[in-house]
Amino acid sequence: MYDRLAILQLIEDAERAEPFCVCGAPMVATDRGGALWLECSARHRPHGRLARIAFRLGLHSARELLAAPALLAA
Ligand SMILES: [Zn+2]
Repeated sequence: MYDRLAILQLIEDAERAEPFCVCGAPMVATDRGGALWLECSARHRPHGRLARIAFRLGLHSARELLAAPALLAA
């Protein structure tokens, strides 16, 4: 069970552990179907040559931080 403070701490820890994608863009916390993910900020709008190459190759970083049921319970 996570409360809002625990979720904020989870996001801060994840962003601190993995601040940048392999393409160099910052990682951001996002909602994916009710689940909390840490993903590349350039994932949907790649800017720059390296980001576009990573987009074409599907190399942008993304990982689930918190599954939807756990997030809904917070
Ligand atoms: Zn990226």
